[in-house]
Amino acid sequence: MNLKALMRRIELRLLDRNVANRCMVFAVLSLPMGLILWGLQAYALAHPEAGAFYRPGALRLAQLGLTALILWLTAVVLLAWHLRRQGRDARWLAQWTVMPTFIVFLLLAIGHGLKDTPMGMVLIQELVVARALFSLRTLKSTLILVVVMVMASDLLITAGQLGYAPLLTAPVFNGEDLAGWWAVWLRVMFQAAVLPFSAMLFFAFNTLRRQRKELESLVRTDVLTGLSNRREFMSQLEIESHRHARSGRPFCLVVCDVDHFKKVNDSWGHPVGDAVLAQLGRILQSSTRDQIDTAARLGGEEFVLLLPDTHLDGARRVASKIASSLREHVFQADGASFSVTQSIGIAEVHGGQGERALRIADQNLYTAKRAGRDQTVASVVA
Ligand code: GH3
Ligand code: MG
Ligand code: MG
Repeated sequence: MNLKALMRRIELRLLDRNVANRCMVFAVLSLPMGLILWGLQAYALAHPEAGAFYRPGALRLAQLGLTALILWLTAVVLLAWHLRRQGRDARWLAQWTVMPTFIVFLLLAIGHGLKDTPMGMVLIQELVVARALFSLRTLKSTLILVVVMVMASDLLITAGQLGYAPLLTAPVFNGEDLAGWWAVWLRVMFQAAVLPFSAMLFFAFNTLRRQRKELESLVRTDVLTGLSNRREFMSQLEIESHRHARSGRPFCLVVCDVDHFKKVNDSWGHPVGDAVLAQLGRILQSSTRDQIDTAARLGGEEFVLLLPDTHLDGARRVASKIASSLREHVFQADGASFSVTQSIGIAEVHGGQGERALRIADQNLYTAKRAGRDQTVASVVA
């Protein structure tokens, strides 16, 4: 695989809408940092001259916590992999991935001295990764906990209840306690720098995410009818083809085309033609199942429905409902009224042959046109 394809794959993973996938990415990106720290601490545990920089017993405790986190993140990777393969979303897993990671890293950061060790940067890096992958709502409780823990440790240190860098025998920075004023100054300036920086990153991710959602929906929607457009339909068709090839269940394609639509335009004008298409769009939308079926405008006055887990009989019922709704709708133009009909082609699909089925549904539609219009022709694609 070349570098470009690899970058694209990573990007797709990062943008994946499946939460289990995102948990997996978060765990995979957090593990190296955990493993590096684990290795350093393991070295200090084995070598007394390095271990002497830590308070007795504290290092062992830190290593225990970190080991638990590494095992947990490994379990998250396996669990998320499993859920993803089952096509499950698992929103609950996000909390259980992010929260323990932040608790362990933050405790280690406080233990090493939050203000003058790179542990502060480790936290910020984790924060950026977490925000890139998860919504603000998912991160809310973890963020509140982080702020409370940082404030509590600062208060305890200022009140003399907790030593700065409690894991260590002496702070990394200079080995001495900071003089009163500088201790306050350092804390205030650190927060003043870190908080706006984090807030800016969060803001940027929010904006990017919102814009991406808007663009995604624009790219997928037909402007006139609000239905899916051809591009979105083709991608749904591919997804359903794969899904149904695996499950062995059939799905149906229903292609509709307004009869003599050119005459509507010619007699009443293009805006009235548009109104007819918009009405047909509403009929298709209201005749299909929310979140399950896809109703799309393939182009011009040709529309299509994708009905998962549906046999020919079911599709025929939907088609006849749509046909009568359109036939019975009275359009008004220039003080006169008129109605329109449509011809329909249906294909029941087996073995995931989506594109072939679309061609056959189209052929059925033209058979219906040739046979006099305002009728439905259906067949099974074996
Ligand atoms: P048939 O019964 O064989 O389907 O005849 P028809 O007149 O419906 O089909 P034909 O394909 O000959 O004409 C389709 C017309 O649809 C031609 C085109 O100008 C019109 N059309 C395509 N897109 C739009 C649109 O967005 N709005 C309007 N008002 N008309 C459109
Ligand atoms: Mg037509
Ligand atoms: Mg046509």
